[in-house]
Amino acid sequence: MKHFAKKKWGQNFLIDPNLLRKIIRTIDPKKSDNLLEIGPGEGALTERLLPLVKEMAVIEIDPVLVEYLRDLDPIKGVHVVHGDVLWQDLDKLPIDPPIKVVGNIPYNITSPILFWLIEQRQYWKEAFLMVQKEVGDRLSAEVGTKSYGRLSVMTGVFLEVEKCFNIPPEVFVPRPKVDSAFIKIKRLEKPLIADDHFDKFEKIVRAAFSKRRKMLQNSLQSFNIPKEVQDSIDFRRRPETLSIAEFAELV
Ligand code: SAM
Repeated sequence: MKHFAKKKWGQNFLIDPNLLRKIIRTIDPKKSDNLLEIGPGEGALTERLLPLVKEMAVIEIDPVLVEYLRDLDPIKGVHVVHGDVLWQDLDKLPIDPPIKVVGNIPYNITSPILFWLIEQRQYWKEAFLMVQKEVGDRLSAEVGTKSYGRLSVMTGVFLEVEKCFNIPPEVFVPRPKVDSAFIKIKRLEKPLIADDHFDKFEKIVRAAFSKRRKMLQNSLQSFNIPKEVQDSIDFRRRPETLSIAEFAELV
C-alpha cells in the first residue's frame, strides 16, 4: 500500500518476517481466543493472527488505513473498528470477553494504554504490547534497581509484566529512534490496592519518587500515614527500596 506514515499516530510498520513469526510464537494464539489488535496499521500482524484464533477485532485511528483494511482480502472476517482505543470499552466490541489484547502501539500513548487496560481488566486475560525498551525495563523492574520507579509501582499493584525480548529499530519502516521491547502482561488475580484508593495511591507514589534520594519520612510528610505503618516499613528508607506490596500498605 502506498501510505505515508503519520508521525502523530506513531506509525512505524513492522516489515521483518522473522520478527513477525517470533511475535506470533510469543503470543501463542489459540483457536479459542477472541483477540483485539490495537493499531493494526497495514495488517502485517493481523493477517498472521487471524487464521489462528476464534474471532478477531482491530481498532485503528487512521481513516485511510481503516478503509484499506476493510478491503484487504487476507483479513476478511476481521471486525475493523475505526476509533481511538483509549475511548473504546472492551465489552462493547463485536467480540466477546475475555479478550486477548495485542498491539504494536504508538509509544507516546503507552502509559494511557496501560491505565486503560487496568481500568478494563475484567474484560481481558492477557495482553502483549510493543513498547519502548526503557519502558519495558521499568514495567518489569525489580525493586532496588535503576529502572524501578513510579511506573513499576503504579502498574505493579494491578499487573504482572514480563519482558519477552528486545527489538532493534531496523525491523520497522520508518525506523524509530529508540530500541523496543515486546512485553507480556497478566492481571494480578488480587490487585494489591482497592480501586477507590487509586487516586490517593497515585499521589503518594508520585510524591515518593519525585524525591528519589530523600527518605520517605521527608517526601511523604504531608500524607498523615499512620504511625504503625511508618514504623513497620521504616520511613528512613528511600522509595526505590520499597517493594510494590510495601507501597500498597501505605494506603
Ligand atoms: N500494527 C502495525 C504494524 O506492526 O506494522 C502498525 C503499528 S504502528 C506502530 C501503530 C498503529 O496504531 C498505527 O497504525 C496508528 O495509526 C495506530 N494508532 C495510533 N494511535 C491510535 C489510537 N489512539 N487508537 C487506535 N489506533 C491508533
